[in-house]
Parts: sequence; structure tokens; C-alpha cells
Amino acid sequence: MTAQIIDGKMIAQQVREEVAAKVTARAAAGKQKPTLATVLVGDRPDSAAYVASKGKACQELGMGSISEHLPADATQEQVEELVRRLNADPQVSGILVQLPMPSHIDEEAVLSLINLEKDVDGFSPLNIGRLAQKGREPLFVPCTPYGCIYLLETSGVKIEGANAVVLGRSNIVGMPAALLLIGKNATVTVCHSRTKDLPGVVRQADILIAAIGKTQMVRGDWIKPGAAVIDVGINAVPDATKKSGQRLVGDVHFEEAKEVASFITPVPGGVGPMTIAMLMNNTLRAAEIQDP
Ligand code: NDP
Repeated sequence: MTAQIIDGKMIAQQVREEVAAKVTARAAAGKQKPTLATVLVGDRPDSAAYVASKGKACQELGMGSISEHLPADATQEQVEELVRRLNADPQVSGILVQLPMPSHIDEEAVLSLINLEKDVDGFSPLNIGRLAQKGREPLFVPCTPYGCIYLLETSGVKIEGANAVVLGRSNIVGMPAALLLIGKNATVTVCHSRTKDLPGVVRQADILIAAIGKTQMVRGDWIKPGAAVIDVGINAVPDATKKSGQRLVGDVHFEEAKEVASFITPVPGGVGPMTIAMLMNNTLRAAEIQDP
């Protein structure tokens, strides 16, 4: 079997076009322009690049973007004051605080200040709590896991009744991905660094979501024939043929796994583009909540 490659870039583009159409319709109706405020503290080049790409996506979709940048030595009070100001600003639909922040900043305290209606990353304990409770809906689903589920559903993978294995239990990917799968009636196993016989557990999976940040750790013979594989991992490996001297690979050994799986996402071009598309979708939703 050779797996069908799930084209995250193309699916993300479709999501972006749908969002852009709704943004245009809102503008025509004189409603609040969905506007994303990003908060960057310090000068990490990767964080600066992520924030810039989010601002660019907003512009491409006709949405507003505000980028706030504080120096690396900003105090806790200054960061919190900024979030409070953005909370109070009626022009701001969604607030995204780029993580990680410098180590002297209490991230938890900052994130918990974001108004629930502006929490487009979906990381507030209240949003996650709602995700975990039967019959409750979060206002916003965290963007990367949301993208994973969207890719599965768009590809026609049946989630209900499936055995799903999630590798990783982080707050931003693994745990919310597992909660979403449970909500869609999969039977879910969550694996982490202390899991025994990882290959044996993964072999039970009809659906595998890999989010551990370990270069190509999941080998082809770990995959159940016909499984759907969503690879969230982003790992740089040396590659002398590239100008940058490196290329990106996932947590799954793509070449091996694609011979066994029924569906698989590539890295890059799988989950990555979905994360920003879902952030745009969440920012639109925030504007819809605040100004229906
Ligand atoms: P974290 O480092 O926060 O979490 C990693 C998880 O993997 C932890 O639960 C950890 O277990 C588990 N883990 C680590 N090593 C092993 C192992 N050898 N066997 C089993 N489990 C292991 O990572 P993130 O969730 O933030 O990110 C995971 C990956 O996804 C990274 O490569 C990251 O770059 C990528 N990513 C991609 C995004 C995208 O848009 N495509 C967005 C966000 C992340 P334990 O809890 O026991 O420590």
C-alpha cells in the first residue's frame, strides 16, 4: 500500500479562502474587522518569524493585525499591562502571546489574563476545561490540534470508533488533540516519555498523531497497515544540498510509513500550514463572538 498524501498546504489554503470570504462579507456589513494582536517579548529569531508570518496571514486575508513588541528585559508588570490594554481595546478581536517568553516572565499568569473571548490560541484553562467536559464547547480550539482533526475529517478518515494513539501530552498539541479525538468518539491512548513498548502501542492505532519532537522516531514497522498518520513534529536535520544546510523532517519516518499507512501528512506541508489557517479561523470566530 502507498498512502494518500494529505496536502496540508492545499487544505489550509481552502480554509484561508473561506475565512477571507467571511471577512469580506463582514466588512460589507459594517461589522468589526477581525484583528489579531500579537505580543512578542524579547528577540528570539524563531518567535519573531512566527509572529511575522501570523501578521502576514492576517493581511492576506483582509484582517487587521497589531504587533506589539516588548524588549527582553520587560517586566512582568509591563507584559501584563500590555495584555490588559489589548483586552480593553475594542478593535482587537484576538490576542496571541508568542511563547516561550523570557524565563523571568510568568507565562501562566500572562496567559490567564487574556479575555476568554479573545483567547484565539485556546490555551486558557477555561477553554481547555470546556474541551475536556462532555457536552461543553470551548470558545476556541487550540490551533495545531484543531488543524490535525480538520485534516483527518477533510480526508474522509472515520474518527468515531477508531483506535487513536497520540504521541505526546503537551498542553499545546498532544493533550488537546487527545481531548478532541475523545470528543469525536475515538478510543484514545496517550503516550509520553514514560510509555512502555511504544512501538507495540502505536501498532494498535487506526489513527496516529505524532507530536514528540523526535526526528523520524516512528518507523514504518510501527504503523498498522491502513492507519492514518498525522505528523506534527518539526525537526531540523543536516542537509548539505540545501542552502540553509538543513531540512525539516517529522517525528515519523515518512518514506517508510507511507508504504504502510492509508493516509499520511508530509513535513513540511502537512500540519504546519494548518496551524496558521486555524489561527485565522479562530480570529474570525472571535470577531463573530464580539460583534455578531
Ligand atoms: P513538547 O516538548 O512540549 O512535548 C513533547 C511530548 O513528547 C511530551 O509529552 C513528551 O513526554 C513526549 N516525548 C518526548 N520524547 C518522547 C519519547 N522518546 N517517547 C515518547 N514520548 C516522548 O513538544 P510540543 O508538543 O510543543 O511539540 C511536539 C512537536 O510538534 C515538536 O517537534 C514541535 O516542533 C512540533 N510542533 C509543530 C507545530 C506545527 O504547527 N506543525 C506546532 C507545535 C509544535 P513527557 O510529557 O513525558 O515529557
